[in-house]
Amino acid sequence: MIETILRENPIYSFSKNSKPVKSIKPGTQIIMETYDALENQIKSDVTLVNHLDWNRVNPATGPVYVEGAKPGDILKVTIDKLEIENQGVMLTGKGLGVMGHRLKAFDVKIVPIKDGKAIFDEKLAIPLNPMIGVIGVAPAGEPVSCGTPGSHGGNMDTKLVTEGATMFFPVFVEGALLAIGDIHAAMGDGEISVTGVEVSGRVTITVDIIKENYLPNPLLENQEGIALIVSAKTLDEAVKTSVEQMIDILHPYTDLTLSHIIMLMSLIGQVQISQVVDPLVTVRFFVSKCFLEAYNIHLFE
Ligand code: CA
Repeated sequence: MIETILRENPIYSFSKNSKPVKSIKPGTQIIMETYDALENQIKSDVTLVNHLDWNRVNPATGPVYVEGAKPGDILKVTIDKLEIENQGVMLTGKGLGVMGHRLKAFDVKIVPIKDGKAIFDEKLAIPLNPMIGVIGVAPAGEPVSCGTPGSHGGNMDTKLVTEGATMFFPVFVEGALLAIGDIHAAMGDGEISVTGVEVSGRVTITVDIIKENYLPNPLLENQEGIALIVSAKTLDEAVKTSVEQMIDILHPYTDLTLSHIIMLMSLIGQVQISQVVDPLVTVRFFVSKCFLEAYNIHLFE
C-alpha cells in the first residue's frame, strides 16, 4: 500500500531547518495530501477577507527527507497522479496581481468543479488543467516563503506541472526536503489575478535521486519536451537566464557549434511565461522532444 502524507501541520517556507514529516528511500512512491493555497479557509463567496488568517496562506505538505540525497545531486519527482476536490476558490483584490491597482477591495469566488470542468458561471464552464503551484526542495541559505519561487522550486505556478510530468530539482541540503502544495484545477499563463482555481487534493509521486549531476534551476519533462523554469525579479532577467542555462545544459550533448545550437533553439525553443504575480516572476524555456530524439540525448545519464 502506498503511504499517504497528511496535510496537517503544513510548512509555510522551504527551509533546511524544517523537521521532516517522513523519511523515504529513493524509488519510493508516496501520496501527499494538500490544502488549497488559502489552507481551505474560504468556504463560500461571502467569506469575509478580514476573517482570513494571512499567516496560513501557501501551505505546503512535507517536507519529506529523501535518504541519500546530498547537495550536488538532482532530485527526480515524477507526478504519477493528481486528484482534486470538487470545489475550488479564486481571490483577487487591491494591490494583487496585474490589475490590483484598479480594485478597491478583496473579492473571493467559489468555483464548483464538475464533470472535468470548472464552473465559472452559468455561461462558461472551463476545461480543467490540474497542476501543482508549489513544489520544491529546501534552499541552501535562508528559508524561502512558500509564496516565492526560486532555483529550489517553490511557488512556480507553472501550468506544465501536471500529472505525467517529471520534475528535476537541484539538491541543496541533505535529504533534499521535498514539499508540495497549492494545486490549481485550472490556470492560464501569467496567473494575472494572483490565483488559479485554488483547490485541495492529493498528489501521487515517485521520488528518486540522480547522483552528482549539476542543474542550476528546476527542469520539467513531459511528453512534448523539456522546460527549464527560472524565477527572477524581472521577466527580462528570467528569460535571459532560462535560455542561456538551457543551452548550456543541452550543448555538451551535441556536436553543434554554439552558434548553430543558438540558431536551432531560435526555431524549436519557446520562451513561455509561467506567472507574473508572485514576489519573483517565473518564465520557462521549452524545447521540443524532437531535439532530444534527433540528437539522441538522454539527460542526466
Ligand atoms: Ca501559487
